[in-house]
Amino acid sequence: MKKILFLLTVLSIVSCGEKKEDNGKLQVVTTTTMITDLVENIGGDLVDVNGLMGSGIDPHLYKASQGDVMKLDGADVIFYNGLHLEGKLVEVFEKMNEQGKTTIAISDGVSEKSLIGSEYFASNYDPHIWFDLTYWNEITYYVTEKLIELDPENKLAYEANRDAYRLQLIDLRAALNVKIQELPKERRILVTAHDAFNYFGRTFDFEVVGLQGISTATEAGVKDVQRITNFIIENKINAVFIESSVPRRTVEALQAAVKAQNHDVKIGGELFSDALGSAGTIEGTYIGMYKHNVSTIVNALK
Ligand SMILES: [Zn+2]
Repeated sequence: MKKILFLLTVLSIVSCGEKKEDNGKLQVVTTTTMITDLVENIGGDLVDVNGLMGSGIDPHLYKASQGDVMKLDGADVIFYNGLHLEGKLVEVFEKMNEQGKTTIAISDGVSEKSLIGSEYFASNYDPHIWFDLTYWNEITYYVTEKLIELDPENKLAYEANRDAYRLQLIDLRAALNVKIQELPKERRILVTAHDAFNYFGRTFDFEVVGLQGISTATEAGVKDVQRITNFIIENKINAVFIESSVPRRTVEALQAAVKAQNHDVKIGGELFSDALGSAGTIEGTYIGMYKHNVSTIVNALK
């Protein structure tokens, strides 16, 4: 008993130490880098944002560390993707919710009717919603609304940040549309390491093929590699893509399988799918990530 009490005391001291002294700012914890970037854009100087996952991290496989639990414990609000993207964190969020913590799934900000269905997820939906620019705009509004509910005094500032960011998203869409036009419709076939690009495909009229199922929790099998090898040869596809948050070996195995049939397919470059690039780089923002992906795809396939 004494031991347990001692442990509890140590834990509570540690967790107090972890909490920043009260600087009056809303303490926000986010999961993926896309959500971290969004909340930083809307929250600006008014919030402290603490992202759990860094660049190159796969959210499907991510497990909370003891340090994460402390961060979550010190948060005023937790923003996560939902739709079972963060498959191994669902229980942690449920526990936080039971403790009275505000947890918000950004996917609640989009209309369920238009979501792409998926049998791979307990949610029955494809969770890679950030690649739909219309959703991302809706989510920008949703997150702003939630921040204002928690911090109504700063309503006008949040709204101003939201409106400025919204304009950037409009510019982004225009720039992407121009770039995509360089690629004729018949070349718009995207083969990637895992099935993260269905919303991208719907937005920009691409056929999308993922080597691993929609979640990286399932490995690509020999059959998948064979099926996609045939697909590449039949459709004369000249490039396939690796992803920063997925090991490249499955795509390399695919490339080797195509070569074994006396055809060539190049690796067209690295895409940022479930995580942004490193903080401080252009690809470390949602907008930079999207531009990078589209120019990498268009330049390799055209
Ligand atoms: Zn994914």
